[in-house]
Amino acid sequence: MSVPPLSELTTLRLGGPATRLVTTDNDEALVDAVRAADAEGAPLLLLAGGSNVVVADAGFEGTVVRVQTRDVEGIRMADGRMRLNVAAGENWDVFVAACIADGLAGIEALSGIPGSVGGTPIQNVGAYGQEVADVIVAVRAFDRVSGELHELDTEECLFDYRSSIFKRDPGRWVVLGVSFALEPTGESEPIRYAELAACLGVEIGGRAPVGDVREAVLALRRGKGMVLDPTDPDTVSAGSFFTNPILRARDFDTFAQRAADRAGADARPPGWPVEPRAVKTSAAWLIERAGFHRGYGNPDGIAISSKHTLALTNRGAGTTSELVALAREIAAGVQEAFGVTLVPEPVFVGHSWAASSLNLDSR
Ligand SMILES: Cc1cc2nc3c(=O)[nH]c(=O)nc-3n(C[C@H](O)[C@H](O)[C@H](O)COP(=O)(O)OP(=O)(O)OC[C@H]3O[C@@H](n4cnc5c(N)ncnc54)[C@H](O)[C@@H]3O)c2cc1C
Repeated sequence: MSVPPLSELTTLRLGGPATRLVTTDNDEALVDAVRAADAEGAPLLLLAGGSNVVVADAGFEGTVVRVQTRDVEGIRMADGRMRLNVAAGENWDVFVAACIADGLAGIEALSGIPGSVGGTPIQNVGAYGQEVADVIVAVRAFDRVSGELHELDTEECLFDYRSSIFKRDPGRWVVLGVSFALEPTGESEPIRYAELAACLGVEIGGRAPVGDVREAVLALRRGKGMVLDPTDPDTVSAGSFFTNPILRARDFDTFAQRAADRAGADARPPGWPVEPRAVKTSAAWLIERAGFHRGYGNPDGIAISSKHTLALTNRGAGTTSELVALAREIAAGVQEAFGVTLVPEPVFVGHSWAASSLNLDSR
């Protein structure tokens, strides 16, 4: 059977062929496929929803193992919460919708994110003030180094902003299942995100029915092209292309001064304290202020989304090399204007971003 180009399996619709493609629908088949590729010494790519990868035009010389495992099990915990043990290949948003229908709280603000359940711990998926790390209690995984199965608790997962042990040590862990603990209250967790609170008509820290939060989040996300929609070319992306930079507090002050010198005293960049002496700022703010507007790029190839500065989109005839060229142009523009280094969020497959000094961590 011929292997389809990986562009057919990624939300960016980019990427050349793989040498081999194996689709797995249960844990045993998944682990066997990984063991077989490792025994052969073949490079391995685990691929689920394909919504956070940038695959090279030349494709991937190795075995692609598609994760399409299915299973959801719910158990009432002693403290009244529901524990959901979910197979890695389950669709994330289908799972979120089912939890909302059952009045379970803790992931309502993560509605509308594409991809699989097993993909969520990899970069500690987050949006609108929630992160999966807040509700994950365990990740069941196969360790390709020891050849054994493990259940990692939340501490062992080393969750951080868009990061985890799975992202820090790429390729080592095969996530088989994720366990979440959700509150069966029907009321959301406290709303932490100002735009969402305004949309719901509640104060920051207030609550709302989980179904209302889901609808509000989906509406906000659709307005930004952040819900996959075959009729909307702005959704042909990998979501946010760059993470929000985290700077040492004194570097943030230097950068804020540079921004004020450039555009006037009222041009103070947004900054959120995230840990002692560190500040997270907005990648979208930096990109816009560096002169890259929505729609910038090639209207038939790769361009910034017309709805969201952080998303790079494939308008139909784009290539991965064009995407990387635009991303580098943007990162270089931000570096030159503000001295801040942008770091891509998606995983590069068959090529690497690190080839240039642009990838220096700004912390
Ligand atoms: C329109 C759009 C909006 C988005 N919005 C958000 C958002 O709001 N917040 C956010 O955090 N992300 C967002 N994303 C990014 C993406 O949806 C998430 O990161 C998602 O969790 C990726 O899951 P996936 O199954 O598609 O992973 P894939 O793209 O298939 O894989 C991503 C990486 O995870 C690895 N991987 C996948 N499955 C496994 C497994 N079972 N075991 C081990 N490794 C595995 C892959 O090898 C690869 O390195 C968005 C993407 C798009 C296209």
